[in-house]
Amino acid sequence: MNRLPSQAEVVIIGGGIIGCSVAYHLAKLGKKDVLLLERKKLTSGTTWHAAGLVRAMLYSANLTRLARHSLELYTRLEKETGQATGLKQNGSISIASNPERWDELRRGASMGRAFGVEAEEITPRQAQEKWPLLNIDDMVGAIFFPRDGQTNPADTAMALAKGARQGGVKIIEDCKVTGIVTRDGRAAGVRTAEGDIKAETVVNCGGMWAREIGLMAGVAVPLHAAEHFYVVTEPMDLPSNLPVMRDMDACAYYKEDAGKLLIGAFEPKAKPWGMNGIPEDFCFDELPEDFEHFQPILEGAIHRVPKLGEAGIRKFFNGPESFSPDQRYLLGEALELKNFYVAAGFNSIGIQSAGGAGMALAEWIVGGHPPFDLWDVDIRRMAPHQNRKTYLYDRVSEALGLLYAMHWPYRQYETARGIRLTPLYMRLKENGACFGEVAGWERANWFAPDGVAPRYQYSFKRQNWFPYAAEEVKATRERVGLFDQSTFAKFLVRGPDAERELQRIAAADMAVAPGRAVYTQWLNERGGIEADLTVTRLAEDAYMVVTAAATAGRDLHWLKRSLAADARVTVDDVTNAYAVLGVMGPASRALLQPLTESDLGNQGFPFGHSKEIVLGNVAIRATRISYMGELGWELYVPSDYAIGVFDSLLAKGAEHGLKLCGMHAMDSLRIEKAYRHWGHDITDEDTPLEAGLGFAVAFDKNADFNGREALLRQRAEKKLTKRLLQFALDDPEPLLYHNEPIYRDGKLVGNTSSANYGHYLGRAIAMGYVRDEGGVDAAYVAAGKWEIEVGLKRYPAQASLRPLYDPTSARMKV
Ligand SMILES: Cc1cc2nc3c(=O)[nH]c(=O)nc-3n(C[C@H](O)[C@H](O)[C@H](O)COP(=O)(O)OP(=O)(O)OC[C@H]3O[C@@H](n4cnc5c(N)ncnc54)[C@H](O)[C@@H]3O)c2cc1C
Repeated sequence: MNRLPSQAEVVIIGGGIIGCSVAYHLAKLGKKDVLLLERKKLTSGTTWHAAGLVRAMLYSANLTRLARHSLELYTRLEKETGQATGLKQNGSISIASNPERWDELRRGASMGRAFGVEAEEITPRQAQEKWPLLNIDDMVGAIFFPRDGQTNPADTAMALAKGARQGGVKIIEDCKVTGIVTRDGRAAGVRTAEGDIKAETVVNCGGMWAREIGLMAGVAVPLHAAEHFYVVTEPMDLPSNLPVMRDMDACAYYKEDAGKLLIGAFEPKAKPWGMNGIPEDFCFDELPEDFEHFQPILEGAIHRVPKLGEAGIRKFFNGPESFSPDQRYLLGEALELKNFYVAAGFNSIGIQSAGGAGMALAEWIVGGHPPFDLWDVDIRRMAPHQNRKTYLYDRVSEALGLLYAMHWPYRQYETARGIRLTPLYMRLKENGACFGEVAGWERANWFAPDGVAPRYQYSFKRQNWFPYAAEEVKATRERVGLFDQSTFAKFLVRGPDAERELQRIAAADMAVAPGRAVYTQWLNERGGIEADLTVTRLAEDAYMVVTAAATAGRDLHWLKRSLAADARVTVDDVTNAYAVLGVMGPASRALLQPLTESDLGNQGFPFGHSKEIVLGNVAIRATRISYMGELGWELYVPSDYAIGVFDSLLAKGAEHGLKLCGMHAMDSLRIEKAYRHWGHDITDEDTPLEAGLGFAVAFDKNADFNGREALLRQRAEKKLTKRLLQFALDDPEPLLYHNEPIYRDGKLVGNTSSANYGHYLGRAIAMGYVRDEGGVDAAYVAAGKWEIEVGLKRYPAQASLRPLYDPTSARMKV
C-alpha cells in the first residue's frame, strides 16, 4: 500500500527544526491535514549538530518577539509533549575587550531594554564571578542577559515533531520531494518518487537545500552553505549552571556541554560549501576537520580562557549551515509563486529562531498575511541576482563572520559588489563617490573631496564622512544639490481600467488630471501601510508608479496581486529605462530654467506637478516633488541620455554652487523634514493615522479603497494610542541610529524607528512610535519630559508631532 496520501492541505518539505516548528504551529492553529516530508531522517541535515545557543533578543522589536516566543515555547514543550528539550536558561555574558565593542554592547543593551529584554551592565570582575575561567586582563566591560541560555537542538526539534504529531500532523521520513507541481501561478502539490501529492500550500523548510527546492518551482531562495566549526574539550569539571559566554572580538562563543567546554567560531573569512550540490546521501554527516582554519580562534580562546591551554580537545566539529546575503533569514510567501512559502537561511540562529519563525509562518499561511511587520526577514526583500551561485558563494564567505564582527553603523559589504550599477555610476565614481549597496544596487552614499579616499572609517561616533555629508546637506538647504536617484523602481500602469484599479489600491485620490504627481500609501485590509510611493498620472489611461529600490519587488507584487481578475491593465517595470536626477535646493530653478523653454515658475510648474520638458537637447520628464524638503525637481531621463544631462547640470551648476550629494545626506535631509521611511517608520502594521499621514488619505474620494473601513473605525475611536513622533536630542553630541528606547517622564513608551544626524538642525534626529493607552495627542506630547537612551545613558530630547524642519512645507512651494 502507498504510504503517501494523494493530497494534503499543507505539505512541508524538510524535517529540521524549522519544518517541525511550522508543522507544530499549524497544528496549534487547528490545521488537521498537514503532511511533513523529510528526505532522510528528522534533524539529519543541520539541526542535529547545532550548538543550541538561544537568546532572548534579536536586532528588531518584532524579531525579539519571535525569539521570546521560542524561549517560552521551549520552556513548556517537555510538559506538553513528554519529550525533554534540554533547555537551560543560565543567561549569557557578552564581553568587550576594546572601547568600540563596549560602545556596541552598551547600545545593544539599550536596544534590549527598548524591546523589554533584561540586560545588565557588569564589570569585568562581576563577569569573572559568573564565569570563573575568564581572563579579564584586557576586558573593558560586559553585559549579562539573564534570560538567555542553551537547548538541545535535536531534542527540541523532536519535541516539536512530537507536538505536531499529537496535533494531527503526518510526518513521513525517507521521502524526498523531487519537484513542485504548479497550476495557474500557484503551488498545487509536490512530486516524489512514490507519486505526486496534491496540496493547497507548499512550505519549503529545506535548510541548505532550500535554494534547490526553490528552483524546482522557479522561486529564488538566496542562500548558500558554509562550513561552521566548533570544538569540544575533554571534561573540564565545569558547573552545569555556567552561562553562555560570547567574546565577539575573538570571534568565539563558549558553552558548557556536559562538563566539557564547547567553543564555536565565527571567523572573518568563512569557507563556502556545497557549490556543486550537496551529496545525495548527506545524512547526519560531518565535514572534514580544518585545524589550520580554526587555529586562530583557538589561540584567542586560550588567551580568554587560559585553562584551555591544559585541556585536550575531544571533538573537532565541522558542519554546514546556510547563510543568506544579508544575514537575515528568508520567511514568507514567495513573490514568484502563490501559496509557496519559505522558511530557510537561518544564518546560525535557526535553533533560537525556530519557535518564533514557525509561529509567524503558520499564522502567515492561515491568515494570508504576516502576523506583524516582518520586513527584516521577508523573502520579498531579495533582488533576483542575489540568487546567483557565484554571488552567493562570494557573499557567504563574508556573511558568517559578520555575525560577530563589529556591527558598525553604515557598515558595507566587501564581497559580491559592483553588480547592479546606475547609468551614472562611473561619473559618480570619477567625482569621488563612496558607494553602498541597497537591494543589490550600488548607490553613492557620500562624496569624498579631492585628496580624500572614498572609503569608510567606521565608528559609533562621527565617522570620517560626517563633515562631507554635512556639506552636502548645507548645499541642498542653501544652494542646490544633485542626487542620483536612478535606483527608484518605476512601474508603468496602463490601460482603460488603470484609474479604477489604482483608485482601489491607493489611499489617495488617483482621479487627478494628467500631469499630477500624488504621494500615497497602499494599504492592506487592516489599514496597515504596504507601500509608500508616488504615482504620477501620465495620461487618461497611464500612470507611473515610483517607489524605493528596496521595496521594488514587494511593491510590484502587491500591485499585480491587487488588480481585479478582469482588469484591462498592463503593468511594466521600466526601472532600467530611466535614470533619475534629483535637482534639489533653493537654487534649483535658477539652474534649470535657462536649460529649458518650459516655464519652471511657481505658476507655470506648481509643486506636485509633472511634465515632459526638453532640457538642453533631451526630452525628459520633470516632476516637482522632493524627499529632501526643498524646492526641486526629479528629472526622469532616458538612460542613454543620462550622462549627457548629468554633465550639463554639473557644468552649469558650478555658478549656483551645485554639489553632488549622496544617500547619507538625503537621509539626513528627509529625517529633518520628518519624511517617513517605509520599512522603518511605516510598515504593514502601522496605519496612516498612527504614522501622521492622514493628510494623504482621501476618505471622501469617489471610490472605495483598500483599508478604508479599518481607517474609518480607527478614526471613529477619536483617540490614537500609538503615534509616530519626531525627536531631536538637546545635546548636539550623541548620535542616534534607531532602536533606541524612548522615555516620557521616566517611563519607557517606545523606541526609535529611524534616526540620523540632522546636519542642518545640528542635532541627532529620530522618529519613533510612542504608545499610551490614554491617547497620544499634541497635549500629551507637549506635557511630557522626553528622553532617549543611548548606550545605557539617557539624553533629554524634544518631541514633536509636526516636522521640526519647515513644518508648513513653505520651502518646497516657492
Ligand atoms: C556548527 C553549528 C552550530 C550552530 N549553532 C547554533 C546555535 O547555537 N544556535 C542556533 O540558533 N543555531 C545554531 N546553528 C544553526 C542551526 O543549526 C540551523 O539554523 C538550523 O538547524 C536550521 O534548521 P533547518 O530546519 O532550516 O535546516 P535542517 O536542519 O538542515 O533541515 C532541513 C531538512 O530538509 C530536508 N530536505 C532537504 N531537501 C529535501 C527534499 N527535497 N525533500 C524532503 N526533505 C528535504 C533535509 O534532509 C533536512 O533534514 C548552528 C549550526 C551549525 C552548523
